[in-house]
Order: sequence, then structure tokens, then C-alpha cells
Amino acid sequence: MLVPREMEPKAPPPQQQLVIRIKVPDGGDVDWRIPLGSQLLFRDVLDVIGQVLPDTTTTAFEYEDEDGDRITVRSDEEMKAMLSYYYTTVTEQQVNGEMIDPLQIYPRACKPPGKRNIHGLKVNTRAGSSNNSCPAVTEGLPNNSLKKSSAELKKILANGQMNEQDIQYRDILGHGNGGTVYKAYHVPSGKILAVKVIPLDITVELQKQIMSELEILYKCDSSYIIGFYGAFFVENRISICTEFMDGGSLDVYRKIPEHVLGRISVAVVKGLTYLWSLKILHRDVKPSNMLVNTRGQVKLCDFGVSTQPERIAGEQYGIHSDVWSFGISFMEIQKNQGSLMPLQLLQCIVDEDPPVLPVGEFSEPFVHFITQCMRKLPTERPAPEELMVHPFVVQYNDKNAEVVSMWVCRMLEERRSQQGIQ
Ligand code: ATP
Ligand code: MG
Repeated sequence: MLVPREMEPKAPPPQQQLVIRIKVPDGGDVDWRIPLGSQLLFRDVLDVIGQVLPDTTTTAFEYEDEDGDRITVRSDEEMKAMLSYYYTTVTEQQVNGEMIDPLQIYPRACKPPGKRNIHGLKVNTRAGSSNNSCPAVTEGLPNNSLKKSSAELKKILANGQMNEQDIQYRDILGHGNGGTVYKAYHVPSGKILAVKVIPLDITVELQKQIMSELEILYKCDSSYIIGFYGAFFVENRISICTEFMDGGSLDVYRKIPEHVLGRISVAVVKGLTYLWSLKILHRDVKPSNMLVNTRGQVKLCDFGVSTQPERIAGEQYGIHSDVWSFGISFMEIQKNQGSLMPLQLLQCIVDEDPPVLPVGEFSEPFVHFITQCMRKLPTERPAPEELMVHPFVVQYNDKNAEVVSMWVCRMLEERRSQQGIQ
């Protein structure tokens, strides 16, 4: 992102508690507050209901779905389904800047209570106003912001029918700002996936980014954009399942031979052009968000901070900034440095003269292409249609995936033998 950390709006504290509101037949509901992430079993809920309603025997409870229909919970499995449904609703409310409703449950077939709340559970006397449980999430968001996302989210979460039980997590592929990416095995399909797991006790800004990412992943259908299999909620985290790219991201590669880099950059230009055609700005173009595989495919990922232009009207960020980030990414890969200068930092010093590639080491078309992408004046950088006709792109726009494929295989082989030696 372009905004330096200290200039970001102050993030509210994260939601720390799950609030279960036990609805008592004659009113006077009881709120049960549980630290987020604690393991909660069906038996535990019945125990607490037993404390709240000591004169009754409760064997089940109900919750209301979005249409107001009552769903009965009688087992741990049904508890999980309820919590998953609830966390989906909470995320929608957070994203929409609404107050977070507690999870309301209705003990089944209980007689009028006698002495209630003997164990000192905290009672929320202001029925219907649960914002005390999570004051943070209502701040700083206009009420109707991302309203459309609510409906979108349901479609997205229904897409692909992914769920935690079908997934076996294997290696950690990397940690990013928002969460951790795992290599995982999807048992029913036998497919290997990349699963990004993001905790939900996060800032409003990050929640908006997740929604944006899901919407974009759901919308995109291009061989230059990472494939999306679905997303699901479990307890206090969301898991986003995408295609696994066995060559990983470009940040781990250094000094890629130019005939390979040429084909990679053509694919990245096509991915960006596709996004721009949907009026989406990537806004986080960098080597770690460009993935390659042994089939020679190159795909863009990570749309967390991407935006549709109409949503950021008035902001300085546009296609030109994606083009600049594209230029600096390829320059950094080729400069063969041990560690890359953070792109954010480089973007902050965009006012200074753009860095240049050492002349003589690289071909003239490549140096020209990168220099053009990094022109100081945004409007002087190539427009999407100009990128595609630049001699460097034209030269390598031959759909020869074999070149990239062979190079990725060789690199992985080298990495394996190096690991074997160590
Ligand atoms: P940031 O959070 O600043 O975007 P990042 O891109 O490194 O940093 P993540 O997006 O969380 O962080 O990704 C972590 C790492 O996981 C990446 O660097 C990449 O190497 C790997 N990775 C992500 N998605 C995939 C995927 N679909 N297939 C293979 N590896 C992946
Ligand atoms: Mg990333």
C-alpha cells in the first residue's frame, strides 16, 4: 500500500470476545462472554444454560438463521455449523460498519426459570444493543460502505463448497501481513491447494481488504490470475482456498535469464491488463504476488488492497501506479540483490529520480521497457495498450510456456539439491 504506516487511520482494538446471548423465556436475557478462539463444545453450552435456568432440563437449543427460521443444535457438529454461520454474519456486519449482534440462542423446552444467573454471568440489560461487546468495529466506517459486499459474500462463500473437514494442512508456504499461507491437500478432489488463513480478530481495514479480495477472486476468470476454489469460516478465522503454484513467488528468484523473464513479464502484463479491463487496480504489484508453476504458467495473486476505481475516486492511485510497481518489481528481481528494498519504501520515495538498470548488463528493449514503466510523471508511463505493443513484450509474446516451465523445473531441482547438501 502507498500509505505509510503512521498515516493510516488508527485501527480500533480487535474484537476479543464471543458474546452468546441466552434468551430466557420471560425476558432478561443473559450474556455469556467467551474469549475468541476458545474451544466451545455443545456440552459447555448446555452446562451454562443449566446454570442460567437451574430449574429446567435443557437438552438442546436453537438459533435463528437469516430468514428468522429456528435451527436446532443438539451436537458438536451442529454447534460448529452455528458458529460458522455466526462468524459469517459478524464479518458482514463488521464490513458494513454495523453493530455486532451477539449470538442469540434459545434454550429448548425449558420451564419458567427459578433463581437465575447464580454463577454471576454478566447480564446485558440493554436488550438489542450489543455494541459494548465490540465497540471498535462500528467506528470509522460509513454505514453503507461496501453494502453490496454482503450479498456478494454469500455467493462467494457458497462457491466451491470448501470446508475445513476436507482439508489436510501440510507445509507453511509463507507468512504475510494478514495471515499465513499453507500448502494443503483437499481430500475429496485429491487436489493440492494454497490456503490463506486469516484471523478475524483484525482491524476493520483488514476486514475490508478480505472482502475486497474475495470479491475480486470470485469475479476473475483468467489464466493469468490465481484460481479461486472457495472460502470458509471456522471459529475466529477465514480460510481462502486458491490454486497452488508449485514454483512459488518470484521474490525467491534472482536474476532470471532475460528470455525467461520476458515471457514472465508478458504474462504479468496480461494479468494486469485483465484486471484493469474489469476496472480493478491491483495496488500490491510486487514479486511475492507473482506466482509461477512447473507448467510454465505465471499468475497474479493477492487482491487484498486492490480496488475498483470508482471506489477510490479522488485518490492519486491509478493504473500508472500499478505500472510503476510492475517496473520496480522486475528491476529488483534482475538487480540480483540479496534482499529487496521494501516496495512500500520505494513507492514513498517515488518523487526522487527513478532508479535505472545498469546499462550493458541487460538488453536495450528491456532497459527501455522498465525505464518507461518507471517514468517520474505518471502520465508518461505506458498505458495498458502501449505496454502490449512495446518491443520487449512483442518479442516474448509467443505463448511459449515451455521456456518458463523448464526454467522453474531447473530452479526447483537446484533448490532441492542445495537443501540435500545442507
Ligand atoms: P504481503 O502480506 O505483504 O502481501 P506476501 O505476499 O509475502 O506479503 P502472503 O500473500 O501471505 O504474503 O503470501 C506468503 C507467501 O506464500 C508468498 O510469499 C508466496 O511465496 C506464498 N504463496 C502465496 N500464495 C501462493 C500460492 N497460491 N501458491 C504457492 N505459494 C503461494
Ligand atoms: Mg502475497
